[in-house]
Amino acid sequence: MHLARFPRIRLGHGPTPLEPMDNLTRALGGANLWIKRDDCTGLASGGNKTRKLEFLMAEASVQGADTVITQGATQSNHARQTAAAACKLGMKCEIILEDRTGSKEHDYRESGNVLLDKLFGARIRVVAGGSDMAAEMDKVAVEVRAASGKPYIIPGGGSNVTGALGYVNCALELVSQANDLELKIDWVVHATGSSGTQAGLVAGLQAMHSGIRVLGIGVRAPQAAQEGNVFKLAQKVAEAIGAAGTVARGDVMANCDYVGPGYGMPTPGMVDAVKMFARNEGILLDPVYSGKGADGLIDQVKKGIFKKGENVVFLHTGGSVALFGYEHALAPSL
Ligand SMILES: *Cc1c(COP(=O)(O)O)cnc(C)c1O
Repeated sequence: MHLARFPRIRLGHGPTPLEPMDNLTRALGGANLWIKRDDCTGLASGGNKTRKLEFLMAEASVQGADTVITQGATQSNHARQTAAAACKLGMKCEIILEDRTGSKEHDYRESGNVLLDKLFGARIRVVAGGSDMAAEMDKVAVEVRAASGKPYIIPGGGSNVTGALGYVNCALELVSQANDLELKIDWVVHATGSSGTQAGLVAGLQAMHSGIRVLGIGVRAPQAAQEGNVFKLAQKVAEAIGAAGTVARGDVMANCDYVGPGYGMPTPGMVDAVKMFARNEGILLDPVYSGKGADGLIDQVKKGIFKKGENVVFLHTGGSVALFGYEHALAPSL
């Protein structure tokens, strides 16, 4: 596992901090809670897509692309970070936003990430929920080529083997930080969606034989589908980093009990978790991913699934910009 074998362009600040959450630990009275601040990657207010884009944008660059094409939900953090990375590298950015929630709220459709996509000069197209997003991106690629451009397609969430290398890198960074702190990590918990974050983490941690377990908290798919997607990608990532066969099916765990009515739909547990992190630790989560991830973390601590004395690291994957796309959902409870 030697990541310098892969092209990479630095986009983020790193290493991101690994810090204790003493107040939250005390408030919940269970396992010792830590946080890995990947919301502080630095690119356009940060988030987990930055690490993936370091490898994806490098690949685009090596291939001579002048335009990146990607897709996501309306309040996509991935789209926002991709648009910013494209600016930094002097590339054009084409974004296709899928209207997954059908929300008519003005803040959801225009503020938060959408406002920043526009600020970064990305071209935005909106398509109906349930559209074939891969086909939509192919259509845009045809248009770009017809105008003599060179497109590079980034899958939703940047979740392919190349993007997931960013989270192999995070696994290396995390274990090295824990070693320096003499901190024995038992669990890493984070929100899991398009699977690249968990696949990269699991592949990296397994390749190192770290003994650290990873629990993804699902935000969209049911458990079997989510675990299946992560496992498939993690196996490919392990192969790419020269550690084929180190990831077993049992190493991939997702809990999808905190999704609520659907992707991007607020839940009372999410709102409570966002408030709890804000008021105990001064940390901003987001309504779609880290808020639901933290809801799962808090509930699993309360249920004693993570035991007193165990060290649990919450990987903060970012997204707080989306708070401003969900004012309508949050303000009434404040
Ligand atoms: C994309 C995203 C995730 C999920 O990561 P995947 O690699 O897509 O599973 C989690 N949190 C935030 C804030 C995100 O934007």
